[in-house]
Amino acid sequence: MTTTAVTHIASLVTNDPSLGNGTPLGLIHDAAVVIDGDRIVWTGESSKAPATDNVLDAAGRAVIPGFVDSHSHLVFAGDRTEEFNARMSGQPYRAGGIRTTVAATRAASDDDLSANVARYLAEALRQGTTTFETKSGYGLTVEDEARALRIAGRHMDEVTYLGAHIVSPDYADDPAGYVDLVTGPMLDACAPHARWIDVFCEQGAFDGDQARAILTAGRAKGLHPRVHANQLSYGPGVQLAVELDAASADHCTHLTDADVDALAQGNTVATLLPGAEFSTRAEWPDARRLLDAGATVALSTDCNPGSSFTSSVPFCIALAVRDMGMTPDEAVWAATAGGAAALRRTDVGRITPGARADLVLLDAPSHVHLAYRPGVPLVSAVWRRGERVV
Ligand SMILES: [Zn+2]
Repeated sequence: MTTTAVTHIASLVTNDPSLGNGTPLGLIHDAAVVIDGDRIVWTGESSKAPATDNVLDAAGRAVIPGFVDSHSHLVFAGDRTEEFNARMSGQPYRAGGIRTTVAATRAASDDDLSANVARYLAEALRQGTTTFETKSGYGLTVEDEARALRIAGRHMDEVTYLGAHIVSPDYADDPAGYVDLVTGPMLDACAPHARWIDVFCEQGAFDGDQARAILTAGRAKGLHPRVHANQLSYGPGVQLAVELDAASADHCTHLTDADVDALAQGNTVATLLPGAEFSTRAEWPDARRLLDAGATVALSTDCNPGSSFTSSVPFCIALAVRDMGMTPDEAVWAATAGGAAALRRTDVGRITPGARADLVLLDAPSHVHLAYRPGVPLVSAVWRRGERVV
């Protein structure tokens, strides 16, 4: 194995509170990181770094863990520019817009879907994302959902079965029949290709009883729950997620005090997706309220062609700091260690010995610049599994 040291890092985010200044970010100044193969083997002060085969001088720039984007919808075809344009001209977002993408996705070839996934993954990588989750949910037939998961699995770290995105247009008059399909033959076909099961628990999609049936059936097949919860309105999604020990309740835009308490007391991460609120001109989720209550918060892109067509975690960090009450430290933690927690991973989202060597070198002296300089391409190098990829 070849060892590489990145030295003279002005500020290194380790996400290990036992290191550096004792905050959750575990900041070390004038730091170095040593990579051996695909792993991090040493972090500390630059002057104490061990000898290595290669050295890269960060020359006073910052290094952070690669972003962990724990929520996206990348297996799709088609385009919804006109819907976005209309919405920005005053029409509200409704869950039904998904049907446009379903029609285009069903009509697309495997190669076209795969190329689309690769394209947006490459785009995300250039912006510092090194761990990615994506979902099915634009097929809504047994064959099309299983196909989406197979394609996702070729490209992704984490794959989620979301047959319960909306009731398939083919079952518009028989939603109970669609739940039977999602929990029966579709689940059988999809479970081998996924780690997670998700449901859009929302008015116009699936109610609490349907969501419970779907998640419970998935769990019986070895899939672990995550939930699209409380995005467009108050509802049962968050409390169901906590009750079923879902890894994550995603969106969390409309929360009662009881919802916040449940998240603070349970093991379920609150994943906030400000790209969706941005792209639908909706009310921001209140990250401050969740953090003050003691909930674990993750930030993710929700990258999808309808309601949040951004692959940029730095953009989401800037929104979270500007509009959701997060400090820059909290937002960077949420987009790295928080995303890892939302995927129940301990090998990513941190720069500590033993972790996967996923690093981002910023063209800035501090991670705070991700919020301080919004919209600026600050990612200057990316290593994934120890390999320099940007
Ligand atoms: Zn989503």
